[in-house]
Amino acid sequence: MKYNFLAFSVPFFVLLIYIEFVITKKKKLAGFELHTVIANLSVGILERLLDVYTGAVFYFIYDFLQKNYGLINIKPTPLVWLGLLICTDFVWYWYHRLAHEVNLLWAIHIVHHQSEDFNFTVSARITVLQAFLRGGFWCVLPLLGFPAQMIIVMLLIHGLYPFFTHTKLVGKLGILEYLFVTPSHHRVHHASNEQYLDKNYGDVLIIWDKLFGTYQSEEEETTIVYGLTKPLNTYDFLWQHFHYFIEIIVAVAKQNTIRGKIKAIFGKPETLDPMARIEAERIFNVKQNMDTIKKPLNTYVKWQIGILLVALFGFILLEKNFSPILSVLFIALTVLTLINCGAIMEHKRWVFNIEFVRAFLTVSSLVYFTGLNGLLVAIFLFATVLATSYKYLENRYLRLVYR
Ligand SMILES: [Zn+2]
Ligand SMILES: [Zn+2]
Repeated sequence: MKYNFLAFSVPFFVLLIYIEFVITKKKKLAGFELHTVIANLSVGILERLLDVYTGAVFYFIYDFLQKNYGLINIKPTPLVWLGLLICTDFVWYWYHRLAHEVNLLWAIHIVHHQSEDFNFTVSARITVLQAFLRGGFWCVLPLLGFPAQMIIVMLLIHGLYPFFTHTKLVGKLGILEYLFVTPSHHRVHHASNEQYLDKNYGDVLIIWDKLFGTYQSEEEETTIVYGLTKPLNTYDFLWQHFHYFIEIIVAVAKQNTIRGKIKAIFGKPETLDPMARIEAERIFNVKQNMDTIKKPLNTYVKWQIGILLVALFGFILLEKNFSPILSVLFIALTVLTLINCGAIMEHKRWVFNIEFVRAFLTVSSLVYFTGLNGLLVAIFLFATVLATSYKYLENRYLRLVYR
């Protein structure tokens, strides 16, 4: 059996989130709204899961680039490690700034900013697309000559740091505020207040913002409003990931000139046609059901996310031993469960379709992996249900979950 001990980051972060939750409640502070927390964790669960593969892909790319095109062959010494940290953080600053200033890149990064609450769970709002974009920017490091092993270790450390800056519980940190990105700085970055927009892009060091004119300190008299300037108002898992891409497509289609189309793709987000969101929501029939969901249903969603977190831990720990088909099945079931949770929080009727596909995948994979060789039987069974009692089951299910 081979183990991946990075899996222990899952219970470690869950424990820290729980501690932050307890302190928030003890101090009677606002925050930790259940559905926002679930939406945040949902994004993070998929990214952590797929990170097992993106990490391996980027290790291969960095190694190839350094060995074939590296400027110099850098050997690890303490000073070189410090140099790598500074270079990594500098590249991050520009990746992050461009992700806010170019529409196409904002379409990827926007997901990180959708939360209207601010706590450790917001740090989980990183999508797999963002992991790819960031990894692409970091290709500069092997080209400079840093070995792939060093870069991967540094990215782990660098990736750990921002978890701690996503909190309202920590005030200003005195002398540290001059050099490092602190929770106070990052609260400003997540604010949608006019004077705080497009500020504090740094990840570990705040010096880049001070150097390039994007620094803003947190003012005591300003109450921060977190999230997007135009809130998304939906927990739809897929819509959160892709809405801005669709808005860009809508905006591009409305432009008559090549120049206008290019501007819609590579221009600044604040110049994108404000009607694009409305049009995109109309095309995909996205509207939030504002009914409050009842306690048993909340419990159902909570259990699903809880089980997913345990399963994620198990999957990362043992991923080296899994066959490709088992990995694909696990990812498919995870995605379906995340879509399911988002849909249930909005009382969507189509949630039954997701349940149906999920049940089919579970049963057929159980049949397959227990070696019963009855995959065809499972398909036949589900096809029969689909043809004869689908409507009946759907009605029963919807009545059961939504009363
Ligand atoms: Zn950002
Ligand atoms: Zn953040």
